[in-house]
Amino acid sequence: MHLSSEDGYFELECETMDECDLIKSMEFAIQQLQDVIEIAPGMCRILLNRYNWNVDKLLENYYSSPELDAEVFLRKARLLPAEDMIVSDGGPLEGDCDICLEAGQLDGLACGHTACSECWKGYLNEKIREGQSEIECMASDCDLLIDDQKILLHITDQRVVDLLRRQQINSYVEHNSRLRWCPTQGCEKAVKIREFGHGVVRCMACKNRFCFGCGFEIHEPLDCELLRIWLKKCKDDSETQNWLIANTKDCPKCGAAIEKNGGCNRMVCKKCNHEFCWSCMQKWDVHGYTIACNKFDDSKDKDATNGIQKSRAALRRYLHYFNRFSNHRNSMRLETKLKEAIENKMVYLQQHSMSWIEVQFLEQAVEVLRECRRTLMYSYGFAYYLTKESNYSLMFEDNQSDLEMATEQLSDILERKTEEEDKIIHLKQIIQDKMNYVNRRRLIILEYCRNGVDSGELEFNVQI
Ligand SMILES: [Zn+2]
Ligand SMILES: [Zn+2]
Ligand SMILES: [Zn+2]
Ligand SMILES: [Zn+2]
Ligand SMILES: [Zn+2]
Ligand SMILES: [Zn+2]
Repeated sequence: MHLSSEDGYFELECETMDECDLIKSMEFAIQQLQDVIEIAPGMCRILLNRYNWNVDKLLENYYSSPELDAEVFLRKARLLPAEDMIVSDGGPLEGDCDICLEAGQLDGLACGHTACSECWKGYLNEKIREGQSEIECMASDCDLLIDDQKILLHITDQRVVDLLRRQQINSYVEHNSRLRWCPTQGCEKAVKIREFGHGVVRCMACKNRFCFGCGFEIHEPLDCELLRIWLKKCKDDSETQNWLIANTKDCPKCGAAIEKNGGCNRMVCKKCNHEFCWSCMQKWDVHGYTIACNKFDDSKDKDATNGIQKSRAALRRYLHYFNRFSNHRNSMRLETKLKEAIENKMVYLQQHSMSWIEVQFLEQAVEVLRECRRTLMYSYGFAYYLTKESNYSLMFEDNQSDLEMATEQLSDILERKTEEEDKIIHLKQIIQDKMNYVNRRRLIILEYCRNGVDSGELEFNVQI
């Protein structure tokens, strides 16, 4: 694990694996286990799922069980039927099928439950299509798991075989504590960490980074657990907040509808030229880049006594944080357009006056802006759960507002001033200074939160 110098995330060393690599490493682990315990590979696979694919831990458990008896071990994993059940060798026999009642050749499991081949096929097809990779015996009172090889005896449709294979690979990745699917749409690679730790990983196929702990995009300063409850809350309350996510608001002066089409929160009404802050709707000339609107003012709610007043106060508080969380998320999306504009600008500048190296600062500035939006966005989920009693937590809000105001300034410079090409060259120094400053503010708040959480100075009003 190392702290990435340029953007301050802890990166874990890892390798990127495609389907072939995954199959190979899955089969390797199965082989390792088979060398010690002589059971079918399909049983090994299910056993290893129980031990998160840690072969050593599995064997340690196996050797420390008093009986040192593979059968006891397999029974616990539901790979062998309970002792008091009729144990057959599962081979074919003649008789009436319990399911369709037709006479013919029957096939069964070690638990003694049998059915005809057609019934097995129908049952297994259905379970595989449901997405299962560990399938129980067909009898309703029997939880014996069916060995992979046995399943394949009954499946003839190649598409179903492929589907099962994919589900097995998926279950391998999901159970393996060193592996995590890359969350990028359509990437379908998995990332394997070398050593356990908290941090982010980079998929070498799509170059995206994500949180190894939960597989979600990077979400510092929130930790994985707080992120989970925050996102759940946002989802549960989605109706209340729909109006907030809207990209149009009415101008507070003339009432004209204003659409937000850039990331910057400093808005100008096209009709009456009134300037205001998109987050809090205050007039810009009082707000500017100096008044922080990140803090929630709970003074009005201090005297809330009855249930209705209290729940209204709680809602007001939540919406304050959600509004800002969602604003930065929107800005981040809108700024992907800015990225395209900047890229065009870079091409233009290279055709005219500047070299490739000389224009790289623009791309860096857009990257810095994006990471600032991300940090700010999750810092509002963080702030929502933070108990604001210590000085340390009040200082957090100051850090947050410093970062927020500096970010809006950078966004403003990048959005407004890039129209005139020749100005860019003169703006280079200003943009670079602002970008370095903003990035420093971001590293400071991340560091501040990490230290606060580690030392216990920052406490949360939820039980995790
Ligand atoms: Zn049948
Ligand atoms: Zn059974
Ligand atoms: Zn990827
Ligand atoms: Zn996470
Ligand atoms: Zn207006
Ligand atoms: Zn504001």
